[in-house]
Amino acid sequence: MGGYGVAAVFDSGHNGPTVLFRADMDALPIEESNLFAYRSCNKGIAHLCGHDGHTSILVGLAKILSVNQPKKGKVVLLFQPSEETGEGAAKVISDPKFKRIKPDYAFGLHNLPGFEKGTIYTRVGTFASASTGMIIELKGLSSHAAHPEDGNNPDRAMANIILGFNKIASEKAGFKDFVLLTVIHAKLGEVAFGTTPGKATVMATLRSFENGDMQLLKQKAESVVNSICSEYNLKHTITYQEEFPATINHPESNEIVKDACNKLVLKHHSLSLPFRWSEDFGHFSNICNTAFFGVGAGINHPQLHNEDYDFPDEIIEPSILVFEQVLSQLLNG
Ligand SMILES: [Zn+2]
Ligand SMILES: [Zn+2]
Repeated sequence: MGGYGVAAVFDSGHNGPTVLFRADMDALPIEESNLFAYRSCNKGIAHLCGHDGHTSILVGLAKILSVNQPKKGKVVLLFQPSEETGEGAAKVISDPKFKRIKPDYAFGLHNLPGFEKGTIYTRVGTFASASTGMIIELKGLSSHAAHPEDGNNPDRAMANIILGFNKIASEKAGFKDFVLLTVIHAKLGEVAFGTTPGKATVMATLRSFENGDMQLLKQKAESVVNSICSEYNLKHTITYQEEFPATINHPESNEIVKDACNKLVLKHHSLSLPFRWSEDFGHFSNICNTAFFGVGAGINHPQLHNEDYDFPDEIIEPSILVFEQVLSQLLNG
């Protein structure tokens, strides 16, 4: 479903909740520098975010379920594509086949380099931030560089938009919690010394801990663009891409994960702040009771998306056991 997604459903045949476990399974367009035997076979593409590990964890849970079916309700193992672009979860959820699944609970995890290996990291409320890419195209009028007065160069508008965006991010006025607005790209005209440019592009990434703050951040950014474009008499378009809602952990589901760790005598830690990065698991937070947790990949482990990253296999087994405990609390009690 949703393109390359696969859902395996274990139905007990008895009434009870539907509990979904999700693993992302996409790779990245990065050339791996590791030389070991199991390095990626595909040039320029590698599993450098550990989604192969997340997939292995879900396959491990499937192995347990194949001999140990749930006593009530249903278990859904969802192998989800396209997490990195923020498209996969939304596509799976909007697939007509997903309507038959209707989960009551959804759980997911991500490995965390820089954190103690095997420790489980939880948080009530926002776990990972909302984020979205904003693209602003400015349209003036090109002319000969010797006669800029015959055209409309968007250079000052472009500069003022960048300054205006930096002001929004630094003022923080009106926001409930942390927001970030990072200009990531800007382009004015083409390299042509004989021409006054007539076009410009500005791109920015918007981030917030709260979904409500993302709406406000978009409004503020759009109003900066609108007022500057009217001041300089420019046409413009604003589009968004790679939109991730915040991943929000429900207190009940988060507690179930913590209970599972306690039963397994696994070290766990409650994070004081959400992560600034985003996870498209947030789309599941919009439709059911969810908890997303981190599994430490090791303090000195190469970071996600580094060319020498390698998923630490030692964290597969404890992760399977956490999922199994969560499942058994909800469906075997
Ligand atoms: Zn990832
Ligand atoms: Zn990633």
